[in-house]
Amino acid sequence: MDWLSEASGILRGYRNWILSNGLVIQAGNTVTIGGNHRSMRFDIITIFPDFFTGPFNHGILKRAQTSGLVEIATHDLRSFTHDRHRTVDDRPFGGGEGMVLKAQPIYDAVQSLDIEPKSQRQSKKATVILLSAQGQRFTQTLAQQLAVTERVVLVCGRYEGVDERVNELLCDREISIGDYVLSGGELAAAVIVDAVVRLLPGALGNPDSSRFESFGVEDQEETVSSDGMPRSTYGAGGLLDYPHYTRPAEFMGLTIPEALAGGNHDAIRRWRRRMALKKTLENRPDLLQNIEFSDEDREILAEFGWRESWDG
Ligand code: SAM
Repeated sequence: MDWLSEASGILRGYRNWILSNGLVIQAGNTVTIGGNHRSMRFDIITIFPDFFTGPFNHGILKRAQTSGLVEIATHDLRSFTHDRHRTVDDRPFGGGEGMVLKAQPIYDAVQSLDIEPKSQRQSKKATVILLSAQGQRFTQTLAQQLAVTERVVLVCGRYEGVDERVNELLCDREISIGDYVLSGGELAAAVIVDAVVRLLPGALGNPDSSRFESFGVEDQEETVSSDGMPRSTYGAGGLLDYPHYTRPAEFMGLTIPEALAGGNHDAIRRWRRRMALKKTLENRPDLLQNIEFSDEDREILAEFGWRESWDG
């Protein structure tokens, strides 16, 4: 065997090899991360710009910035104040608890990014988002929509929230990361950046990782991957992911499921589908309402006690 066939033999088993020089070699072609890929930009407006040093400095997020896939800039709201106390908040009209972030510094901060007020904005390339417990719930579908936007501005609230005129004048939408109240929008902004960046082409070592995971959009059975290898996964199609196991095969008396030990890709795929259905029924029955099931899926779900008219 010559070196080329030997090398391609090694490559055949892997979708991607990430090399330390920033190249992704896919079976059959070579692409450069950063150079050829579209890059995305986040601007985060906050009173705590240092907050993000930790969350953005590790793993996929760090790599995506280093390779030029994404640029993340934080902007200190206090730099857009005009008084010597650098005041960003004031008491609420009508009384009530706490303080409210003033509209003017946020308005000026957004203007400084060359982003026009909502009513004058022509381009859909940039979107301005207010983090708010009153917002639309953040989902994987929303993350996918944001991942094809060139520029996202995230406005982080604090205290009792943000003067509503910020929302009216500047924001395309309000987003909540869940039904609970945080003390500030910074954690929510970090969550959104993380969920979006890992969807950018080239961000993950294996691009299939973001297809075959919880809430993944595709729901077809794929028996063979694009490089011809047998596939033992199943597009989640709105279900939760199936359970994962790694070595050793026995731990504290618990052994791995038999189907995973056998090496039969069809059996593994069917077991995983079954477990994804079971987990979704147990933990998030609401998700089942939006899914088109096969007859086999319905049988499995019925076995686990599902009623079609389940209302959570
Ligand atoms: N008074 C607000 C209410 O009851 O909806 C809560 C304000 S909260 C203490 C301060 C800031 O944290 C908000 O302005 C928002 O930016 C952020 N925040 C709180 N919960 C959030 C959530 N679930 N998702 C996104 N941002 C949130």
